[in-house]
Amino acid sequence: MSPSYQITEHHYDVVIVGAGGAGLRATLGMSASGFRTACITKVFPTRSHTVAAQGGIGAALGNMEEDNWRFHMYDTVKGSDWLGDQDAIEYLCRNAIPAVIELEHFGVPFSRTPDGKIYQRPFGGHTADYGKKLVSRACAAADRTGHAILHTLYQQSLKHQAEFFVEYIALDLVMSADGSCVGVLAWCLEDGSLHLFRGHQTVLATGGYGRAYFSCTSAHTCTGDGNAMALRAGLPLQDMEFVQFHPTGIYGAGCLITEGTRGEGGYLTNSAGERFMERYAPSAKDLASRDVVSRAMTVEINEGRGVGPLKDHIFLHLEHLPAATLHEKLPGISETAKIFAGVDVTREPIPVLPTVHYNMGGVPTNYHAEALRPTASDPDAVCPGLMAIGEAACVSVHGANRLGTNSLVDLVVFGRAAALRTAELIKPGAAHKPLAKDATDQALARFDRHRQAAGKYGTAELRLRLQRAMQTHCAVFRDGKFIAEGIHAVAEIRSDSRELGISDRSLIWNSDLVEALEYDNLLAQAEVTLACAHNRTESRGAHSREDFPNRDDEKWMIHSLAWHDGAVAGAVAGGDVKSPRLGSRPVHNYTLTDEVEYIPPKPRVY
Ligand SMILES: Cc1cc2nc3c(=O)[nH]c(=O)nc-3n(C[C@H](O)[C@H](O)[C@H](O)COP(=O)(O)OP(=O)(O)OC[C@H]3O[C@@H](n4cnc5c(N)ncnc54)[C@H](O)[C@@H]3O)c2cc1C
Repeated sequence: MSPSYQITEHHYDVVIVGAGGAGLRATLGMSASGFRTACITKVFPTRSHTVAAQGGIGAALGNMEEDNWRFHMYDTVKGSDWLGDQDAIEYLCRNAIPAVIELEHFGVPFSRTPDGKIYQRPFGGHTADYGKKLVSRACAAADRTGHAILHTLYQQSLKHQAEFFVEYIALDLVMSADGSCVGVLAWCLEDGSLHLFRGHQTVLATGGYGRAYFSCTSAHTCTGDGNAMALRAGLPLQDMEFVQFHPTGIYGAGCLITEGTRGEGGYLTNSAGERFMERYAPSAKDLASRDVVSRAMTVEINEGRGVGPLKDHIFLHLEHLPAATLHEKLPGISETAKIFAGVDVTREPIPVLPTVHYNMGGVPTNYHAEALRPTASDPDAVCPGLMAIGEAACVSVHGANRLGTNSLVDLVVFGRAAALRTAELIKPGAAHKPLAKDATDQALARFDRHRQAAGKYGTAELRLRLQRAMQTHCAVFRDGKFIAEGIHAVAEIRSDSRELGISDRSLIWNSDLVEALEYDNLLAQAEVTLACAHNRTESRGAHSREDFPNRDDEKWMIHSLAWHDGAVAGAVAGGDVKSPRLGSRPVHNYTLTDEVEYIPPKPRVY
């Protein structure tokens, strides 16, 4: 029996969960197409993590030197270590160019070249002529690109009739008996009320789950709520073993120092003062792909060449750069380094360490942003009524490793694609079918179990144990035995979660309950990440197995899938939870059009 909560029902054409770059671009597109659109967000739109993006948005505009979307596509396929779907990558790289021009017309204040074009800087893994030379492709608004984009998209959304529900926490997807998604259940923090948002299309734009780790560059809100909601709805997540470590998080604090610093000429050194990247990536050096640089830094530290009293980090040098470059192109970085590392970048190096930054995995989708429910006979089968975009989605354009600047462009390209596809699928104003009486029972029961939790462990304590277990057992280098120990450690944490306790039982502004629910979401995703990492016995992109150091295209050029029915009851139910169920689907080894050829796998050197 479901606990008795009053639920207010709302009818929309489209319900979007999340107001980061992805959610806002979709909200704008949907409402401009005449759909009655609700955008639900747990934080004020312009506080979404997109606001923190620094370095740039990738598009082959060719403003600084010759560039071409085909070069961008080649770099993205290579960056993905051939796990990306090439039809989707073609769609991304072609559409990146009009998407950035559109942002410019929306009013994004990009930095400019002397002749007034959008300024572009070099970034890791960005090359021209199919890997032959570095190219400037990252379109930047100083080092505050995400801030500029997010504020502009929010202003544009307000022009249309989209309705925002701010500080509403989406709890679970609501599914109909035939397996399609019909909306979402949400909790309003301000007055404690519960709401059922009905939509013919529900779009998950809830971002990544960086907070499953102890040290990450992502905001505290990045708990992957949408991913966990998909798991609880019986849908799989894809490629969850691929977690990107950014080479330059500030040592101790985790705050990001953008790759744009190396794009502007910054470089890394070890305890001998050596520019060690020259040994690992002779051509691209400090601008090799992120997984490559993070591994090189970890090897330097593990072999005793780290800097600092504990020899446990690396230096990033900017002090040789002209003051004007630091002032005009990297003002935010100078400030961040001062506040979080106590460093004056004009005089001394910044202490840095590889830090969790991005989740390549998420809800599997096609390039129209439709969520997939793969079956044995149809690996590309769609889950009607559900879409996913942005970091919550796995299209897959990033494959095993995302290139810097390819997330911001993913947000706007696929946020727009979601609106275009919806216009093909549904008509504005169509009536909603009545729902089964018990459609929200499972979700309410989980919500209520957390609300009533009266055990001896606080959420912060359990979450810290989880984050430490992930940081220890599933980081830059991995090993089967060690991951298995991690799986065991997390099973114990799951079991102790039965004893979770929260102190506040109210429904209004109950941050205790918010954190318990977010922790529940993190726990499910940590279990899936570990299971997939254990299963993939090869090294590819960000997944580096010391016991299987080589890429194995014969066996592993496939997307991992993981279902986790065991997570449905939630953390507080605890006890013997079934392990995730694993499967796979083929990588799309074909392009969208004949205007570009499939790029076959080859060794990945920079
Ligand atoms: C420090 C930093 C710097 C970066 N720099 C770059 C860069 O220069 N270039 C680049 O391409 N990429 C960069 N990235 C990556 C990129 O910024 C992110 O991947 C991207 O912004 C994610 O956008 P999103 O719209 O998917 O999610 P987010 O921006 O994380 O937004 C998620 C939204 O979902 C909402 N939400 C979540 N859960 C719920 C819930 N349960 N109920 C209701 N609402 C919910 C939140 O309120 C929020 O509005 C950076 C990332 C970080 C952390």
